[in-house]
Amino acid sequence: MKKQKFAKSKQLLIFLFTAISVCFISCMDSSLAEPKSLIVILKADDLGETYDNWNEFIKIVNDSGACAGIGIISKNVKTQTSLNEIRRVSALRQSNFFPVIEFWNHGWDHEDIANGTEFKGTDFKYQFEHLKKAQDFFKDSLHIICHSFGAPHNRTSPITLKVLEKFKEIHVWQLFRKIENETNKPWIDPDISAFKPSNNRLMLNIDYLYLYDFKIDRIIPNYKNDLKKPYIIIQLHPMNWDTQSFENFKEMIHFYKEKRRGVFMTPYQYYKYLKKDYISE
Ligand SMILES: [Zn+2]
Repeated sequence: MKKQKFAKSKQLLIFLFTAISVCFISCMDSSLAEPKSLIVILKADDLGETYDNWNEFIKIVNDSGACAGIGIISKNVKTQTSLNEIRRVSALRQSNFFPVIEFWNHGWDHEDIANGTEFKGTDFKYQFEHLKKAQDFFKDSLHIICHSFGAPHNRTSPITLKVLEKFKEIHVWQLFRKIENETNKPWIDPDISAFKPSNNRLMLNIDYLYLYDFKIDRIIPNYKNDLKKPYIIIQLHPMNWDTQSFENFKEMIHFYKEKRRGVFMTPYQYYKYLKKDYISE
């Protein structure tokens, strides 16, 4: 009788231990909790319709176990096929449950206006309406809450800072500091000062900008230098890529993955990591 009871409690203990272990392993990703290598954020711009180049880019990222952020120009997503494809891709998950692809707000129409761009040289009302239309498109048509932003042409003004204040769900602002000087509080860039878990606005500076084809001749030789930084962002335009650019892109992912030289994160994932919140929503 005693023996039976002991066997049952032993079974129960083994079951509990297994359940806890499985949950711990699947809920946490050790590379996310404590990455010892360089944090690499891929920023791919200008998605509208999901043309072949986009499908190939997403496939490479997914197949290689990396992740990336893709900036959507909401007005340019015109067909049901593209809507369905973006929704499908947004459900792909990394082993740590964060999305493989984080779609983010790259403006409503990306159109240039007289003496300016969508978020530079335009007034508060214009910028607010454009940002809101895009955020609403994410929510209503893509069924995604969009947490990150990056302006068309990397051009913004102090007005953009005021507009973004109205969108509490946007926690990450990706910018190119050589052109954009919006460094005011409450936005904090870990390149400049420490981001505390209580902060809610993360500003990220672009380190490498590729407008057309993609090459690795600057990135790889600069790796040791980059290791001194808390993160790097690589801006890409996959719609302009030829076969060689795609090959270079694969080689870059391989370079960071090999010997764990880099850990890929999406912009919002990096924000959650800095807040020590490792569980994806
Ligand atoms: Zn763009």
